[in-house]
Amino acid sequence: MFNVDKIRQDFPILQRQVNGKPLIYLDNAATSQTPQQVIDVIVDYYSHYNSNIHRGVHTLSQEATDKYEAARNTIQKHFNAKHAYEIILTAGTTHGINLIASGFSSLLKKDDEILVSALEHHSNIVPWQMLCEKTGATLKVIPMNMDGELVMSVYDKLLSKNTKLVFVNHISNALGTINPIEEIISKAHEVGAAVLVDGAQACPHLKPDMQALDVDFYVASAHKMCGPTGVGMLYGKEAWLKKLPPYQGGGEMIAEVSFEKTTYADLPHKFEAGTPNICGGIAFGAAVDYMNAIGFEAIAKYEHELLDYATAELLKIEGLKIFGTAKEKTSVISFNLEGIHPYDVGTLLDKMGIAVRTGHHCAQPIMNFFNIPGTVRASFAFYNTKAEVDTLVSGVKKAKMMLS
Ligand code: PMP
Repeated sequence: MFNVDKIRQDFPILQRQVNGKPLIYLDNAATSQTPQQVIDVIVDYYSHYNSNIHRGVHTLSQEATDKYEAARNTIQKHFNAKHAYEIILTAGTTHGINLIASGFSSLLKKDDEILVSALEHHSNIVPWQMLCEKTGATLKVIPMNMDGELVMSVYDKLLSKNTKLVFVNHISNALGTINPIEEIISKAHEVGAAVLVDGAQACPHLKPDMQALDVDFYVASAHKMCGPTGVGMLYGKEAWLKKLPPYQGGGEMIAEVSFEKTTYADLPHKFEAGTPNICGGIAFGAAVDYMNAIGFEAIAKYEHELLDYATAELLKIEGLKIFGTAKEKTSVISFNLEGIHPYDVGTLLDKMGIAVRTGHHCAQPIMNFFNIPGTVRASFAFYNTKAEVDTLVSGVKKAKMMLS
């Protein structure tokens, strides 16, 4: 039985006040909150076994290494990767994307094409533009319609024998659209292209299965799924990870070093140069365990109820328009009030203790598509409540009155 009141007790931050009002945290698409169970793991690490991993013979180093590798195994099982060494622990989604983009710079040539969706976060646009500049490859865009859904008939036409890579997010951070990644992956594979899926927004809401998806690369950030910032994961199929060159040189990623020749470590260490975010990796594993204990089916069902309720209530406000009306979407509502700048709405909501995000959400092409400067974005997590939605709705009404 999903008990939101009990779940909320796990999150100390939800007890705080902002501007004299109880915090209502609706900026989960930017960063989720951290439960006590994960905070305890972080405190335990620094209190009891903080040390460097992999090369140490002493007890602390071995304890830290065991816990770090156990976290990798947890993440492997969660994402159903075939091997633990297909999970590269990164600094986050952006790091994972750049690692792959950098690796492909030695594999692409002029006339090769890269397809990217119109729904992308800047971190899944800019690295590919940089890659195209380096290699002479061309970037093509899979367009979207007014509901914020990808136009799959155009995708079919864009795919050709020249397509080498396809990049798409699983769920759009700006609109909440769930993209049909199964179809995108299978069609890309028919022409021999590899697919990277940006799962930053999907992983807080669902449990993607790497083997069932048959995806080539999948990236995520721990801080969107109840874990700490500065850590994330890159899944890559073994064959691809073996083929790609290392991203950064340094300690940890080598087998043998001499001034004449250096050989690289096996996976996953080949892509993990330097001392990693050890505590972050261990806490990432704890966050995955925490979310699984609640259960992704229960999370999805509850968040969907919140989404439907909030959508219906917000739409009762005259002059309020929601951007992103896809049939398949998660608990993200991007909206504007007619004639009012989103920044002003967000600032007034903050005075009422309500945290929303305003602006272009690192997705300027989407804002340009709708010809708007930005939106107000309320994004819900499984620890939000209907009562909080009601406070948001009355806050938006108040903001409208004050700003009209
Ligand atoms: N892609 C998407 C869809 C995102 O929402 C975000 C975070 N807003 C990122 C990539 C970047 O994630 P990070 O900042 O954790 O690297």
